[in-house]
Amino acid sequence: MAATIYYDNDADLSLLKDKTIAILGYGSQGHAQAQNLKDSGCNVVIGQRPGSANYDLAVSHGFDPLPLEEATKRGDLVNILLPDEVQGDIYRNQIREHLSTGDILMCSHGFNVHFGQVEAPPGVDTLLVAPKGPGHLVRSEFEKGGGVPSLIALGPGASETTKKLGLAYAKGIGGTRGGVIETTIAEETETDLFGEQVVLCGGVSELVKAAFDTLVDAGYQPEMAYFECLHELKLIVDLFYQGGLNYMRYSVSNTAEYGDYTRGPRIITEQTRAEMRKILAEIQNGEFARDWILENRAGAASFKAIRRRNRNHKIEEVGRQLRSLMSWINAKEV
Ligand code: NDP
Ligand code: MG
Repeated sequence: MAATIYYDNDADLSLLKDKTIAILGYGSQGHAQAQNLKDSGCNVVIGQRPGSANYDLAVSHGFDPLPLEEATKRGDLVNILLPDEVQGDIYRNQIREHLSTGDILMCSHGFNVHFGQVEAPPGVDTLLVAPKGPGHLVRSEFEKGGGVPSLIALGPGASETTKKLGLAYAKGIGGTRGGVIETTIAEETETDLFGEQVVLCGGVSELVKAAFDTLVDAGYQPEMAYFECLHELKLIVDLFYQGGLNYMRYSVSNTAEYGDYTRGPRIITEQTRAEMRKILAEIQNGEFARDWILENRAGAASFKAIRRRNRNHKIEEVGRQLRSLMSWINAKEV
């Protein structure tokens, strides 16, 4: 089934004329969405705790940041753009009781709504408008006259008016310039988690590490392993991004293409596909969410330990050294 996609002509910004939009959190998404909305002529208030660089940033952009409670009270549309792992507690302690009937509770990722950590009170609709890109891109594309494609989804029982306001909001951040795909909060949440676990973060890093280790254990130089298994990945992904798998296969040598068809399926085997289905089931039945929510309640002890262990993998050592030799890549260090 093909998705419904909305563009500029499907959205009416004037619906937001008499509304106040509260953006809670001035981080990656918050700073971008708030500034785009303001430039689109919307009334925007910021909820941001004081004493941080993001507070100062909001001030430098001409906003007068308020405590979360106050911003929530002022907002007719209240968008929670805080890190997902703190949203539940902050919602219960600082946001929920300040919502009024007729307000719209918004998010840019459905995790907390879908898994019951953020539940709108009666009379408040839930709405997701999610740009499919990081905040700095949402801002920079908007400034160039473009926009990052976005998703829209309504919470259970939300009205047609809420949807229209959601499309207006999406227009305000530039989303309808790129196209706004209609989805559900369940679909957005589950596909997002699945993508990051199986491909984007989990799958790809394990693949890179395993291939690097295989070469190094076989006696090849780590520098060579780094270039072949990590560095060059970007060149391939750029081709995917521009023209899909076909364009990558068209661009690489016939030798590489033949190796791809004949050896790739020996890496991603039926066993790997079965594991993907299992990971998907754990997302769907809430097992992953419960695990992650409890992990955070426990002070993220095992998360921090795994993170520490991964930071010291040999590939990071070699990579740091090699990246320092390539001035054009804008090397970053964590
Ligand atoms: P960031 O981490 O960039 O920003 C978080 C904001 O929340 C900051 O302003 C931060 O303020 C504030 N904050 C953090 N912890 C607390 C706390 N305990 N109490 C009060 N304020 C706090 O978040 P993102 O913009 O990345 O993510 C926001 C939402 O957008 C999430 O739901 C995410 O899934 C979604 N999203 C993110 C995308 C991205 O590319 N980043 C893409 C699409 C969706 P301070 O400076 O004081 O810490
Ligand atoms: Mg309000």
